[in-house]
Amino acid sequence: MTTVLQDKVAVVTGGAQGIGEAIARLFVDHGARVVIGDRDGAAAELTAKGIGAEVARGFGCDVTDGDQVQALLAFAAESFGGVDVMVNNAGITRDATMRKMTEDEFDQVIAVHLRGAWLGTKHAAATMREQGRGGAIVNMSSISGKVGFFGQTNYSAAKAGVVGLTKAAAKEMARDQIRVNAIQPGLIATEMTRAMPEHIWKSKMAEIPLQRAGTVDEIANVALFLASDMSSYMTGTVLEVTGGRLM
Ligand code: NAP
Repeated sequence: MTTVLQDKVAVVTGGAQGIGEAIARLFVDHGARVVIGDRDGAAAELTAKGIGAEVARGFGCDVTDGDQVQALLAFAAESFGGVDVMVNNAGITRDATMRKMTEDEFDQVIAVHLRGAWLGTKHAAATMREQGRGGAIVNMSSISGKVGFFGQTNYSAAKAGVVGLTKAAAKEMARDQIRVNAIQPGLIATEMTRAMPEHIWKSKMAEIPLQRAGTVDEIANVALFLASDMSSYMTGTVLEVTGGRLM
């Protein structure tokens, strides 16, 4: 077993299910201890328990609230002795055409994805800088942030914003050997995409050269790469994991 995250401590937001859970599991498989932060603290604890109490803990955290993000990082430091990897993954969708989208639906999506990733990056970077042993931050963008999707003016704007945040933060944090990179998944089978009407799912499938949706594990593999020293000379990058869709 390769243990590329041996003795590292990772925090994964939105890790109670879906892509975040897969990332938490894979990180533990590769030697890390993980704190799962999720809006639903009980769900986060349950997922962590399923991974293993020695190596994973759950913590209730709404990523839109700076105090809660700081509490999550402090919990990781108390539980496992620091923070080496931060994965800003928590997310929601509130899809609607711009004509129908309410201001509240716009604000909610920007708050969770963009403000949440900014708070996670800001506070994790501060913790890592203080520790003085570098670190890796992985921000979850989306291919929606590259091309803009119909019905997702809120989500596409937030996910494009995550790219700008990643690059600007990478420049600010490089001198402290803290790397900041982003992933742009394509169509991945999770709760987030399960609610999609069948005709929309089919139209998206038609755009994918590899002719299938991706799995959560295929995103987790890329997160592991960016979190570990396997990507030690990469910062400010955006990796598309889309089966070739919209390349
Ligand atoms: P998911 O299964 O819905 O998981 C997202 C998790 O984030 C849920 O546990 C959710 O909790 C949590 N969350 C939502 N708002 C939060 C908040 N304010 N604070 C803390 N946790 C919060 O979604 P997923 O598909 O795994 O998506 C994970 C990430 O990948 C998201 O950033 C998403 O935008 C991105 N992504 C997904 C796809 C895809 O095709 N699935 C494609 C591109 C990018 P609740 O269940 O309580 O809301």
